[in-house]
Amino acid sequence: MPPEPSASPQTEAPAEGAVMPPEEFRRYGYQVIDWIADYMRQVRDYPVLARTRPGELLDSLPPFAPEAGEPMDLILNDFQKLILPAITHWNHPRFHAYFSVSSSGPGILAEALIAALNVNGMLWKSAPACTELEQTALGWLRQWLGLPESFFGVIHDTASSNALHAIAAARHLADPEARRRGHALPLTLYVSEHAHSSLEKGALVLGVGQDNVRKIQVDSEFRMRPDALRDAIEADLAAGKKPFFACATVGTTSVTSVDPVPAIADLAERYGLWLHVDGAYGGTAAIVPEFRCLLAGADRADSIVVNPHKWLLCPIDISVLYTRRPDVLRGAFSVVPEYLRTQEDPRALNLMDYGLPLGRRFRALKLWFVMRYFGHERAAAMIRTHVDWAREFAAWVEADSRFEVVAPAPLSLVCFRYRGSDEQNRRLMDAVNASGAAYLSHNVMAGRFVIRFAIGNLQTTRDDIAEVWRAIQQTAAGLQE
Ligand SMILES: *Cc1c(COP(=O)(O)O)cnc(C)c1O
Repeated sequence: MPPEPSASPQTEAPAEGAVMPPEEFRRYGYQVIDWIADYMRQVRDYPVLARTRPGELLDSLPPFAPEAGEPMDLILNDFQKLILPAITHWNHPRFHAYFSVSSSGPGILAEALIAALNVNGMLWKSAPACTELEQTALGWLRQWLGLPESFFGVIHDTASSNALHAIAAARHLADPEARRRGHALPLTLYVSEHAHSSLEKGALVLGVGQDNVRKIQVDSEFRMRPDALRDAIEADLAAGKKPFFACATVGTTSVTSVDPVPAIADLAERYGLWLHVDGAYGGTAAIVPEFRCLLAGADRADSIVVNPHKWLLCPIDISVLYTRRPDVLRGAFSVVPEYLRTQEDPRALNLMDYGLPLGRRFRALKLWFVMRYFGHERAAAMIRTHVDWAREFAAWVEADSRFEVVAPAPLSLVCFRYRGSDEQNRRLMDAVNASGAAYLSHNVMAGRFVIRFAIGNLQTTRDDIAEVWRAIQQTAAGLQE
Protein backbone atom coordinates (compact mmCIF):
# COMPACT_ATOMS: atom_id res chain seq x y z
CA MET A 1 0.00 0.00 0.00
CA PRO A 2 1.72 3.21 -1.15
CA PRO A 3 1.60 6.31 1.07
CA GLU A 4 -0.59 8.10 -1.48
CA PRO A 5 -3.59 6.54 -3.22
CA SER A 6 -2.56 5.53 -6.73
CA ALA A 7 -4.63 6.97 -9.55
CA SER A 8 -5.32 3.60 -11.15
CA PRO A 9 -5.11 0.77 -8.65
CA GLN A 10 -4.31 -2.65 -10.01
CA THR A 11 -7.44 -4.65 -10.26
CA GLU A 12 -6.16 -8.16 -9.93
CA ALA A 13 -9.17 -10.35 -9.26
CA PRO A 14 -9.33 -12.13 -5.91
CA ALA A 15 -8.27 -15.75 -5.93
CA GLU A 16 -10.78 -18.48 -6.61
CA GLY A 17 -12.15 -20.16 -3.52
CA ALA A 18 -12.61 -18.92 0.00
CA VAL A 19 -9.04 -18.81 1.23
CA MET A 20 -6.70 -15.87 0.70
CA PRO A 21 -3.63 -17.61 -0.75
CA PRO A 22 -0.60 -17.32 1.54
CA GLU A 23 1.42 -15.52 -1.16
CA GLU A 24 -1.28 -12.90 -1.55
CA PHE A 25 -1.52 -12.53 2.22
CA ARG A 26 2.23 -12.08 2.42
CA ARG A 27 2.27 -9.42 -0.31
CA TYR A 28 -0.49 -7.32 1.24
CA GLY A 29 0.78 -8.04 4.73
CA TYR A 30 4.10 -6.41 3.84
CA GLN A 31 2.25 -3.48 2.30
CA VAL A 32 0.10 -2.99 5.36
CA ILE A 33 3.05 -3.19 7.75
CA ASP A 34 4.98 -0.71 5.57
CA TRP A 35 2.00 1.58 5.62
CA ILE A 36 1.71 1.35 9.42
CA ALA A 37 5.43 2.07 9.84
CA ASP A 38 5.12 5.16 7.60
CA TYR A 39 1.95 6.22 9.38
CA MET A 40 3.60 6.03 12.79
CA ARG A 41 6.50 8.13 11.48
CA GLN A 42 4.39 10.68 9.61
CA VAL A 43 1.27 10.88 11.74
CA ARG A 44 2.10 14.53 12.52
CA ASP A 45 1.39 15.40 8.87
CA TYR A 46 -2.33 14.72 9.31
CA PRO A 47 -4.79 17.22 10.77
CA VAL A 48 -5.58 15.74 14.21
CA LEU A 49 -9.32 16.20 13.98
CA ALA A 50 -11.09 14.69 10.97
CA ARG A 51 -12.23 17.35 8.52
CA THR A 52 -15.32 15.53 7.47
CA ARG A 53 -18.96 16.47 7.73
CA PRO A 54 -21.49 14.16 9.38
CA GLY A 55 -22.76 11.70 6.77
CA GLU A 56 -20.01 12.46 4.25
CA LEU A 57 -18.32 9.05 4.48
CA LEU A 58 -21.65 7.29 4.62
CA ASP A 59 -22.72 9.01 1.39
CA SER A 60 -19.48 8.07 -0.35
CA LEU A 61 -19.86 4.33 0.31
CA PRO A 62 -22.12 1.96 -1.60
CA PRO A 63 -25.17 0.93 0.41
CA PHE A 64 -24.80 -2.73 -0.62
CA ALA A 65 -21.89 -5.13 -0.14
CA PRO A 66 -20.36 -6.54 -3.35
CA GLU A 67 -21.80 -9.76 -4.75
CA ALA A 68 -18.43 -10.84 -6.15
CA GLY A 69 -15.22 -10.43 -4.12
CA GLU A 70 -13.05 -7.40 -4.83
CA PRO A 71 -9.27 -7.16 -5.14
CA MET A 72 -7.24 -6.15 -2.08
CA ASP A 73 -5.67 -3.26 -4.02
CA LEU A 74 -9.05 -1.67 -4.47
CA ILE A 75 -9.96 -2.16 -0.81
CA LEU A 76 -6.68 -0.69 0.43
CA ASN A 77 -6.98 2.17 -2.00
CA ASP A 78 -10.43 3.02 -0.66
CA PHE A 79 -9.08 2.77 2.88
CA GLN A 80 -6.73 5.61 2.00
CA LYS A 81 -9.05 7.63 -0.18
CA LEU A 82 -12.28 7.34 1.81
CA ILE A 83 -11.65 6.06 5.32
CA LEU A 84 -8.50 7.96 6.33
CA PRO A 85 -9.95 11.44 5.74
CA ALA A 86 -12.75 10.54 8.16
CA ILE A 87 -10.26 9.51 10.86
CA THR A 88 -9.59 11.64 13.92
CA HIS A 89 -6.03 10.63 14.72
CA TRP A 90 -6.05 9.35 18.30
CA ASN A 91 -2.48 8.23 17.79
CA HIS A 92 -1.40 11.76 16.87
CA PRO A 93 1.09 13.32 19.31
CA ARG A 94 -1.03 16.51 19.44
CA PHE A 95 -4.27 14.71 20.27
CA HIS A 96 -4.95 16.37 23.62
CA ALA A 97 -8.71 15.82 23.90
CA TYR A 98 -10.52 13.54 26.40
CA PHE A 99 -7.62 11.42 27.61
CA SER A 100 -4.74 11.27 25.20
CA VAL A 101 -3.75 7.65 24.54
CA SER A 102 -1.12 5.65 22.66
CA SER A 103 -1.01 2.60 20.59
CA SER A 104 2.55 1.33 20.25
CA GLY A 105 4.65 -0.87 17.96
CA PRO A 106 4.60 -3.99 20.16
CA GLY A 107 0.89 -3.50 20.86
CA ILE A 108 0.07 -3.29 17.14
CA LEU A 109 2.13 -6.38 16.31
CA ALA A 110 0.44 -8.29 19.12
CA GLU A 111 -2.99 -7.29 17.74
CA ALA A 112 -2.05 -8.83 14.40
CA LEU A 113 -1.04 -12.08 16.10
CA ILE A 114 -4.20 -12.07 18.22
CA ALA A 115 -6.28 -11.88 15.04
CA ALA A 116 -4.18 -14.59 13.39
CA LEU A 117 -4.59 -17.04 16.26
CA ASN A 118 -8.22 -16.05 16.76
CA VAL A 119 -8.51 -18.00 20.01
CA ASN A 120 -11.58 -17.59 22.15
CA GLY A 121 -10.59 -17.65 25.82
CA MET A 122 -13.92 -18.73 27.26
CA LEU A 123 -12.50 -21.88 28.89
CA TRP A 124 -9.02 -22.96 29.90
CA LYS A 125 -9.42 -25.90 27.54
CA SER A 126 -10.47 -23.69 24.64
CA ALA A 127 -7.43 -21.43 25.09
CA PRO A 128 -4.84 -22.44 27.69
CA ALA A 129 -2.35 -19.73 26.65
CA CYS A 130 -4.97 -16.98 26.72
CA THR A 131 -6.08 -18.04 30.20
CA GLU A 132 -2.65 -18.47 31.73
CA LEU A 133 -0.92 -15.50 30.06
CA GLU A 134 -3.73 -13.29 31.38
CA GLN A 135 -2.88 -14.40 34.91
CA THR A 136 0.84 -13.83 34.34
CA ALA A 137 0.51 -10.39 32.71
CA LEU A 138 -1.97 -9.23 35.34
CA GLY A 139 0.32 -10.53 38.09
CA TRP A 140 3.16 -8.48 36.63
CA LEU A 141 0.97 -5.38 36.33
CA ARG A 142 -0.26 -5.85 39.89
CA GLN A 143 3.36 -5.77 41.05
CA TRP A 144 4.08 -2.65 39.00
CA LEU A 145 1.08 -1.00 40.67
CA GLY A 146 2.23 -2.06 44.14
CA LEU A 147 -0.97 -3.98 44.89
CA PRO A 148 -0.97 -7.00 47.19
CA GLU A 149 -0.95 -10.54 45.86
CA SER A 150 -4.46 -11.11 47.15
CA PHE A 151 -5.84 -9.30 44.08
CA PHE A 152 -7.05 -11.55 41.28
CA GLY A 153 -7.15 -9.92 37.85
CA VAL A 154 -9.37 -10.39 34.84
CA ILE A 155 -9.44 -8.52 31.53
CA HIS A 156 -12.52 -7.09 29.87
CA ASP A 157 -12.99 -4.60 27.07
CA THR A 158 -13.55 -1.35 28.95
CA ALA A 159 -13.66 0.23 32.38
CA SER A 160 -17.40 0.62 31.85
CA SER A 161 -17.85 -3.16 31.56
CA ASN A 162 -15.63 -3.62 34.56
CA ALA A 163 -17.68 -1.15 36.62
CA LEU A 164 -20.76 -3.19 35.79
CA HIS A 165 -18.96 -6.37 36.85
CA ALA A 166 -17.93 -4.81 40.16
CA ILE A 167 -21.47 -3.59 40.89
CA ALA A 168 -22.88 -7.02 40.06
CA ALA A 169 -20.39 -8.69 42.41
CA ALA A 170 -21.25 -6.19 45.15
CA ARG A 171 -24.94 -6.87 44.66
CA HIS A 172 -24.32 -10.62 44.88
CA LEU A 173 -22.52 -10.10 48.17
CA ALA A 174 -25.22 -7.79 49.58
CA ASP A 175 -28.13 -9.90 48.37
CA PRO A 176 -27.10 -13.46 47.38
CA GLU A 177 -30.67 -14.30 46.47
CA ALA A 178 -30.67 -11.56 43.83
CA ARG A 179 -29.19 -13.94 41.27
CA ARG A 180 -32.25 -16.15 41.41
CA ARG A 181 -35.10 -13.83 42.20
CA GLY A 182 -33.89 -10.43 41.14
CA HIS A 183 -32.88 -8.25 44.02
CA ALA A 184 -35.44 -7.48 46.65
CA LEU A 185 -33.40 -5.13 48.82
CA PRO A 186 -33.59 -1.33 48.36
CA LEU A 187 -29.95 -0.97 47.30
CA THR A 188 -28.16 2.38 47.17
CA LEU A 189 -24.84 3.15 45.51
CA TYR A 190 -22.38 6.03 46.16
CA VAL A 191 -20.09 7.88 43.76
CA SER A 192 -18.76 11.43 43.67
CA GLU A 193 -20.34 14.11 41.50
CA HIS A 194 -17.29 13.73 39.28
CA ALA A 195 -17.37 9.94 38.96
CA HIS A 196 -17.56 8.45 35.49
CA SER A 197 -21.00 7.95 33.98
CA SER A 198 -20.30 4.22 33.61
CA LEU A 199 -21.04 3.71 37.32
CA GLU A 200 -24.50 5.14 36.84
CA LYS A 201 -24.96 3.06 33.70
CA GLY A 202 -23.98 -0.09 35.59
CA ALA A 203 -26.51 0.76 38.27
CA LEU A 204 -29.30 1.27 35.79
CA VAL A 205 -28.50 -1.90 33.82
CA LEU A 206 -28.46 -3.98 37.01
CA GLY A 207 -31.78 -2.62 38.15
CA VAL A 208 -30.40 -0.61 41.07
CA GLY A 209 -31.95 2.39 39.38
CA GLN A 210 -30.60 5.87 38.70
CA ASP A 211 -32.63 7.26 41.59
CA ASN A 212 -30.59 5.08 43.94
CA VAL A 213 -27.24 6.44 42.77
CA ARG A 214 -26.05 9.07 45.25
CA LYS A 215 -23.69 11.63 43.77
CA ILE A 216 -21.67 12.81 46.72
CA GLN A 217 -20.45 16.40 46.91
CA VAL A 218 -16.80 17.21 46.30
CA ASP A 219 -14.45 19.62 48.09
CA SER A 220 -12.81 22.67 46.52
CA GLU A 221 -10.36 20.36 44.72
CA PHE A 222 -13.11 18.16 43.27
CA ARG A 223 -12.48 15.21 45.65
CA MET A 224 -15.33 13.29 47.24
CA ARG A 225 -16.10 14.59 50.73
CA PRO A 226 -16.05 11.67 53.19
CA ASP A 227 -18.28 13.59 55.63
CA ALA A 228 -20.89 14.02 52.89
CA LEU A 229 -20.57 10.32 52.03
CA ARG A 230 -21.15 9.38 55.67
CA ASP A 231 -24.18 11.68 55.90
CA ALA A 232 -25.68 10.20 52.72
CA ILE A 233 -25.19 6.63 53.98
CA GLU A 234 -26.70 7.52 57.36
CA ALA A 235 -29.68 9.21 55.72
CA ASP A 236 -30.29 6.16 53.52
CA LEU A 237 -30.03 3.77 56.48
CA ALA A 238 -32.50 5.89 58.41
CA ALA A 239 -34.85 5.69 55.42
CA GLY A 240 -34.62 1.89 55.37
CA LYS A 241 -32.32 1.65 52.36
CA LYS A 242 -29.48 -0.84 51.95
CA PRO A 243 -26.20 0.92 51.04
CA PHE A 244 -24.04 -1.63 49.20
CA PHE A 245 -21.44 -0.02 46.95
CA ALA A 246 -19.11 2.98 46.95
CA CYS A 247 -16.75 4.06 44.21
CA ALA A 248 -13.65 6.16 44.84
CA THR A 249 -12.09 7.59 41.69
CA VAL A 250 -8.34 7.92 41.31
CA GLY A 251 -8.10 10.43 38.48
CA THR A 252 -11.61 11.61 37.64
CA THR A 253 -12.44 11.97 33.97
CA SER A 254 -13.35 15.65 34.28
CA VAL A 255 -10.34 16.95 36.26
CA THR A 256 -8.22 13.95 37.39
CA SER A 257 -9.01 14.69 41.02
CA VAL A 258 -8.14 11.87 43.40
CA ASP A 259 -10.79 10.91 45.95
CA PRO A 260 -9.49 10.24 49.50
CA VAL A 261 -9.43 6.45 49.20
CA PRO A 262 -8.33 5.67 52.81
CA ALA A 263 -11.18 7.72 54.35
CA ILE A 264 -13.69 6.20 51.92
CA ALA A 265 -12.31 2.74 52.72
CA ASP A 266 -12.89 3.42 56.43
CA LEU A 267 -16.54 4.22 55.73
CA ALA A 268 -16.95 1.26 53.37
CA GLU A 269 -15.66 -1.01 56.11
CA ARG A 270 -17.78 0.58 58.82
CA TYR A 271 -21.01 0.28 56.81
CA GLY A 272 -20.20 -2.96 54.99
CA LEU A 273 -20.06 -1.48 51.46
CA TRP A 274 -18.19 -2.94 48.52
CA LEU A 275 -15.39 -0.48 47.70
CA HIS A 276 -14.57 -0.01 44.04
CA VAL A 277 -11.59 2.11 42.99
CA ASP A 278 -11.91 3.53 39.49
CA GLY A 279 -8.38 4.21 38.28
CA ALA A 280 -9.15 3.71 34.60
CA TYR A 281 -6.80 6.52 33.62
CA GLY A 282 -5.05 7.71 36.81
CA GLY A 283 -4.46 4.30 38.38
CA THR A 284 -1.80 3.44 35.81
CA ALA A 285 0.34 6.34 37.05
CA ALA A 286 0.93 4.24 40.18
CA ILE A 287 3.53 2.24 38.23
CA VAL A 288 5.80 5.28 38.78
CA PRO A 289 7.38 4.73 42.21
CA GLU A 290 6.86 8.33 43.33
CA PHE A 291 3.17 8.21 42.29
CA ARG A 292 2.45 4.91 44.01
CA CYS A 293 0.76 6.91 46.77
CA LEU A 294 -2.12 7.50 44.30
CA LEU A 295 -3.32 4.01 45.16
CA ALA A 296 -2.81 4.44 48.92
CA GLY A 297 -5.74 2.69 50.58
CA ALA A 298 -6.64 0.86 47.38
CA ASP A 299 -5.27 -2.34 48.89
CA ARG A 300 -8.43 -2.26 51.03
CA ALA A 301 -10.71 -2.06 48.00
CA ASP A 302 -12.85 -4.97 46.88
CA SER A 303 -12.22 -4.09 43.24
CA ILE A 304 -9.94 -1.81 41.24
CA VAL A 305 -9.98 -0.89 37.56
CA VAL A 306 -7.07 0.29 35.44
CA ASN A 307 -7.06 0.67 31.65
CA PRO A 308 -3.82 -0.25 29.87
CA HIS A 309 -5.48 1.16 26.73
CA LYS A 310 -5.39 4.63 28.26
CA TRP A 311 -1.95 5.34 29.64
CA LEU A 312 -0.07 2.09 29.22
CA LEU A 313 0.68 1.85 25.52
CA CYS A 314 -1.86 -0.82 24.56
CA PRO A 315 -4.18 -0.31 21.59
CA ILE A 316 -7.84 -0.10 22.55
CA ASP A 317 -9.37 -2.26 24.02
CA ILE A 318 -8.05 -3.65 27.29
CA SER A 319 -9.28 -2.86 30.78
CA VAL A 320 -8.21 -4.75 33.90
CA LEU A 321 -10.46 -5.55 36.85
CA TYR A 322 -8.68 -6.58 40.04
CA THR A 323 -10.68 -8.01 42.88
CA ARG A 324 -9.90 -9.42 46.29
CA ARG A 325 -13.13 -11.39 46.03
CA PRO A 326 -12.92 -13.48 42.87
CA ASP A 327 -15.30 -16.01 44.41
CA VAL A 328 -17.98 -13.36 44.78
CA LEU A 329 -17.48 -12.19 41.19
CA ARG A 330 -17.73 -15.79 40.07
CA GLY A 331 -20.78 -16.32 42.23
CA ALA A 332 -22.47 -13.37 40.54
CA PHE A 333 -21.79 -14.53 36.99
CA SER A 334 -21.16 -18.25 36.74
CA VAL A 335 -23.78 -20.10 34.70
CA VAL A 336 -22.40 -23.26 33.08
CA PRO A 337 -24.45 -25.07 30.44
CA GLU A 338 -23.59 -28.72 29.88
CA TYR A 339 -21.74 -28.16 26.59
CA LEU A 340 -19.28 -25.90 28.39
CA ARG A 341 -18.76 -28.22 31.36
CA THR A 342 -15.14 -29.24 31.83
CA GLN A 343 -13.21 -31.47 34.19
CA GLU A 344 -12.58 -29.74 37.49
CA ASP A 345 -8.91 -28.92 37.81
CA PRO A 346 -7.97 -26.22 40.32
CA ARG A 347 -5.37 -24.82 37.95
CA ALA A 348 -7.68 -24.72 34.93
CA LEU A 349 -9.43 -21.39 35.28
CA ASN A 350 -12.45 -20.79 33.07
CA LEU A 351 -12.50 -17.04 32.53
CA MET A 352 -16.08 -17.07 31.24
CA ASP A 353 -17.10 -17.56 34.88
CA TYR A 354 -15.81 -14.12 35.87
CA GLY A 355 -18.01 -11.92 33.77
CA LEU A 356 -20.75 -11.39 31.26
CA PRO A 357 -19.12 -12.24 27.91
CA LEU A 358 -18.57 -15.87 26.99
CA GLY A 359 -16.17 -15.11 24.17
CA ARG A 360 -13.01 -13.25 24.97
CA ARG A 361 -10.17 -11.98 22.82
CA PHE A 362 -6.57 -12.79 23.63
CA ARG A 363 -6.00 -9.26 24.97
CA ALA A 364 -3.35 -10.38 27.45
CA LEU A 365 -0.96 -10.91 24.55
CA LYS A 366 -0.72 -7.19 23.81
CA LEU A 367 -0.21 -6.29 27.45
CA TRP A 368 2.52 -8.93 27.70
CA PHE A 369 4.23 -7.64 24.52
CA VAL A 370 4.04 -4.05 25.76
CA MET A 371 5.28 -4.80 29.30
CA ARG A 372 8.20 -6.82 27.97
CA TYR A 373 9.15 -4.41 25.20
CA PHE A 374 9.10 -1.21 27.24
CA GLY A 375 9.89 -2.66 30.65
CA HIS A 376 8.90 -0.96 33.86
CA GLU A 377 11.56 1.72 33.46
CA ARG A 378 10.50 3.07 30.10
CA ALA A 379 6.77 2.84 30.81
CA ALA A 380 7.21 4.69 34.10
CA ALA A 381 9.51 7.28 32.47
CA MET A 382 6.84 8.05 29.89
CA ILE A 383 4.20 8.70 32.55
CA ARG A 384 6.59 10.74 34.67
CA THR A 385 7.48 12.91 31.66
CA HIS A 386 3.82 13.47 30.78
CA VAL A 387 3.13 14.63 34.33
CA ASP A 388 6.14 16.98 34.23
CA TRP A 389 4.97 18.48 30.95
CA ALA A 390 1.45 18.97 32.28
CA ARG A 391 2.92 20.95 35.20
CA GLU A 392 4.98 23.00 32.79
CA PHE A 393 1.96 23.63 30.57
CA ALA A 394 -0.07 24.70 33.62
CA ALA A 395 2.72 27.12 34.57
CA TRP A 396 2.66 28.63 31.05
CA VAL A 397 -1.11 29.10 31.34
CA GLU A 398 -0.74 30.73 34.75
CA ALA A 399 1.98 33.04 33.45
CA ASP A 400 -0.32 34.46 30.77
CA SER A 401 -2.75 36.83 32.47
CA ARG A 402 -5.37 36.22 29.76
CA PHE A 403 -5.79 32.63 31.00
CA GLU A 404 -6.44 30.74 34.22
CA VAL A 405 -5.97 27.14 35.35
CA VAL A 406 -9.28 26.10 36.91
CA ALA A 407 -8.33 22.97 38.85
CA PRO A 408 -5.24 21.37 40.35
CA ALA A 409 -3.47 19.20 37.77
CA PRO A 410 -1.99 16.29 39.72
CA LEU A 411 -1.56 14.07 36.65
CA SER A 412 -1.34 14.84 32.92
CA LEU A 413 -4.58 16.76 32.35
CA VAL A 414 -4.73 20.56 32.60
CA CYS A 415 -8.14 22.23 32.74
CA PHE A 416 -7.97 25.90 31.87
CA ARG A 417 -9.94 28.73 30.40
CA TYR A 418 -9.53 32.03 28.66
CA ARG A 419 -10.62 34.81 30.99
CA GLY A 420 -13.56 35.75 28.85
CA SER A 421 -16.99 34.49 27.96
CA ASP A 422 -17.91 30.84 27.45
CA GLU A 423 -18.55 31.75 23.85
CA GLN A 424 -14.98 33.04 23.44
CA ASN A 425 -13.60 29.87 25.01
CA ARG A 426 -15.61 27.74 22.65
CA ARG A 427 -14.47 29.78 19.66
CA LEU A 428 -10.88 29.49 20.82
CA MET A 429 -11.10 25.70 21.13
CA ASP A 430 -12.95 25.27 17.84
CA ALA A 431 -10.43 27.43 15.99
CA VAL A 432 -7.45 25.45 17.29
CA ASN A 433 -9.19 22.18 16.45
CA ALA A 434 -10.20 23.37 12.97
CA SER A 435 -6.61 24.39 12.22
CA GLY A 436 -5.63 20.72 12.51
CA ALA A 437 -2.70 21.65 14.76
CA ALA A 438 -4.15 19.95 17.82
CA TYR A 439 -7.33 18.48 19.21
CA LEU A 440 -8.64 19.85 22.52
CA SER A 441 -11.92 18.99 24.21
CA HIS A 442 -14.05 20.79 26.76
CA ASN A 443 -16.05 20.35 29.91
CA VAL A 444 -18.42 22.53 31.89
CA MET A 445 -17.30 23.04 35.48
CA ALA A 446 -19.11 25.16 38.03
CA GLY A 447 -21.28 26.35 35.14
CA ARG A 448 -18.33 27.57 33.07
CA PHE A 449 -16.86 26.33 29.79
CA VAL A 450 -13.43 24.82 30.46
CA ILE A 451 -10.83 23.57 27.96
CA ARG A 452 -9.16 20.23 28.67
CA PHE A 453 -5.56 19.67 27.63
CA ALA A 454 -4.55 16.02 28.10
CA ILE A 455 -1.09 14.55 27.53
CA GLY A 456 -0.67 10.80 27.09
CA ASN A 457 0.79 9.91 23.71
CA LEU A 458 4.13 8.15 23.46
CA GLN A 459 5.24 10.27 20.51
CA THR A 460 4.37 13.65 22.04
CA THR A 461 7.42 15.85 22.56
CA ARG A 462 7.90 18.98 24.63
CA ASP A 463 8.08 20.89 21.33
CA ASP A 464 4.61 19.63 20.43
CA ILE A 465 3.26 20.98 23.68
CA ALA A 466 5.03 24.32 23.28
CA GLU A 467 3.69 24.57 19.74
CA VAL A 468 0.11 23.87 20.81
CA TRP A 469 0.40 26.48 23.56
CA ARG A 470 1.66 29.02 20.99
CA ALA A 471 -1.28 28.16 18.74
CA ILE A 472 -3.68 28.70 21.66
CA GLN A 473 -2.05 32.04 22.52
CA GLN A 474 -2.13 33.26 18.92
CA THR A 475 -5.74 32.23 18.51
CA ALA A 476 -6.60 34.05 21.73
CA ALA A 477 -4.94 37.22 20.39
CA GLY A 478 -7.36 37.05 17.46
CA LEU A 479 -10.31 36.72 19.84
CA GLN A 480 -9.66 40.06 21.47
CA GLU A 481 -10.00 42.03 18.26
C1 LIG B 1 -12.16 6.69 30.72
C2 LIG B 1 -12.72 6.41 32.04
C3 LIG B 1 -13.71 5.44 32.20
C4 LIG B 1 -14.34 4.72 31.04
O1 LIG B 1 -13.42 3.94 30.37
P1 LIG B 1 -13.87 2.97 29.20
O2 LIG B 1 -12.79 1.96 29.19
O3 LIG B 1 -13.89 3.81 27.97
O4 LIG B 1 -15.20 2.42 29.52
C5 LIG B 1 -14.14 5.17 33.48
N1 LIG B 1 -13.65 5.82 34.53
C6 LIG B 1 -12.70 6.77 34.42
C7 LIG B 1 -12.19 7.47 35.63
C8 LIG B 1 -12.21 7.09 33.16
O5 LIG B 1 -11.28 8.04 33.03
